[in-house]
Amino acid sequence: MSIFKPDPQIPPRVLATDLDGTFIPLPGNADNLAALETFRHARASLEFGLVFATGRHFESVLEALRQYALPEPDWIVCDVGTSIHHRQAESFVLFEPFETHLAKNTRGGDRTAVEALLADLDGLALQSPERQQRFKISYVSSAAAAESLAALANQRLEQARLPYACLASLDPFHGKGLLDVLPAGASKAAALIWLATHADFTPDEVVFAGDSDNDFAALTCGFRAIVVANARGDLAGEARCELARRGLEHRLFQATLSATSGVLEGCRRFGLLPA
Ligand SMILES: [Mg+2]
Repeated sequence: MSIFKPDPQIPPRVLATDLDGTFIPLPGNADNLAALETFRHARASLEFGLVFATGRHFESVLEALRQYALPEPDWIVCDVGTSIHHRQAESFVLFEPFETHLAKNTRGGDRTAVEALLADLDGLALQSPERQQRFKISYVSSAAAAESLAALANQRLEQARLPYACLASLDPFHGKGLLDVLPAGASKAAALIWLATHADFTPDEVVFAGDSDNDFAALTCGFRAIVVANARGDLAGEARCELARRGLEHRLFQATLSATSGVLEGCRRFGLLPA
């Protein structure tokens, strides 16, 4: 896992945030909507960077932007950390240096090689094209077979020495198994940490906000971090423990408010936005 030693003297300048359960208002939560309005105004009048870091695919992020009238971010990290888009004028373009970075990590082995290797696995089918990326090969299976298919896929990837790993999860809405084959070590956090050392800001300037396990690495790498009140279980406690081992527990803020309101509370606490 990537970590860095933060310089506490450097003030925050960029909000990097998870979307679902964090920056996107919870259903029917008027306070969250008001907080979002505050962020919209702040983006129009204040100088601070905005990065979305989400497991959603790019089209789905654009959909969320429209649906919730989110303020436009400067950067979007999506597809479980396997693609980064950069805002240029009115549109978003794929950030090529990150593609180059992933191509180097995968030693040129691209999705064609992965697809060919897994083509004859019974019960495994490719998801629709908008779910696919150059470095994210996504499959669907029955819920019951997901774990064993992931194990089989990993066995084959290892034998073929393709530096990819297959992760299985369940789609709670459709009762299906979802399998993502990603470059080994790819994650939302890894992509965000890479971005913070290659874009027009530094890791010291980032405030990161999240609510679930796939935010844990980004919450504990050294960024100023906000855990929203609706986070799962004791995510904040576990993150604080992890940070305390490096004497960095002061980098974490446990919000008393949920989702968008908690993110706003944390941004004010860290001085990214005025109180
Ligand atoms: Mg979330």
